[in-house]
Amino acid sequence: MVTGDALRGYLKYLQDLGVYDLYRTSDVADPQAAGLLSSVAANDEYRGAAAPAPVVQDVRTKPISKQASMVTDLQKSAEEPVRVLPAPQRHPAPTTMSASAESASLLAESAEAPFTPLMAPTSFNNRAPLPPVSVEAPQKVAVLQALRSEIGDCTRCPLAYAGRHSIVFADGNPNAKLMFVGEGPGADEDASGLPFVGKAGQLLNNMITAMGLKREQVYIANIVMCRPPKNRVPEPVEANTCSQFLLRQIDVVQPEVIVALGSTAATYLLGVKQSLVALRGQWHNVRGARCAVTYHPAYLLRDPKMKGEAWKDLQRVMVELKQKPASPS
Ligand code: SF4
Repeated sequence: MVTGDALRGYLKYLQDLGVYDLYRTSDVADPQAAGLLSSVAANDEYRGAAAPAPVVQDVRTKPISKQASMVTDLQKSAEEPVRVLPAPQRHPAPTTMSASAESASLLAESAEAPFTPLMAPTSFNNRAPLPPVSVEAPQKVAVLQALRSEIGDCTRCPLAYAGRHSIVFADGNPNAKLMFVGEGPGADEDASGLPFVGKAGQLLNNMITAMGLKREQVYIANIVMCRPPKNRVPEPVEANTCSQFLLRQIDVVQPEVIVALGSTAATYLLGVKQSLVALRGQWHNVRGARCAVTYHPAYLLRDPKMKGEAWKDLQRVMVELKQKPASPS
């Protein structure tokens, strides 16, 4: 069910891309309109998700479907088969980089990775090959800052027009062994620009402390960086668009273990739509890291009796990381 807010956001988004005006234009041979559409197609190729699949579908319906020359690129892009790659090996002996210029080139290479815009979730492993080089520890901050600059005042998905105040990039240690991935910012995060700072964030902090770690030692990010209105679940086009940036953060940080917090994070990281119960208790592979699935802290706040189950998941992570729990005070 599409809400009025969501619809308004999509229309604003389409208008920004030029697609809305194009759709209304009967004279599609208009060179300006053609330019707008080709710019959408160009965006479509650009890291894969700026032009969401449903928009492409709409543009390809009646008013312009006969303008073969204009839509050929879009059709090609939409029909391109998904590249299915073998699951990346766990951080195979990486080549390291030492110069910032090389770090910039890593980002450029990563930007050219063949992401594919999809409505259905696709695992992070299948969205792009692993980068050919790893970023050296001292360079990671600069590379992540460059990625943040590239994101800029992002309008790549409808969430840009859904009332966000901040783009919530990430928080934590770029050299972390452990990364937590949640769903998206809430009101507190939107206001502060940092992930997991509200009540759910407090609980996550407590979980991290119980693991014998400090928040500053882990890396925390979300599937989408802008707050969905009324904290709704991100739409596939939003998650698929924004998670390209999370994917690249993972490739820079290269954590040993990723903990997917909740079903949205698990769905997009793993590319499967299964119940959390089915995904818990086993190790998955995400970009060469081991990935565990557990409950989102917001869910644990609503159903505290599940905290024990979440703790079991975190204990498995601690064993994997050889991490001792906090000693009782
Ligand atoms: S959610 Fe991500 S892709 Fe969408 S506008 Fe925000 S930063 Fe851009």
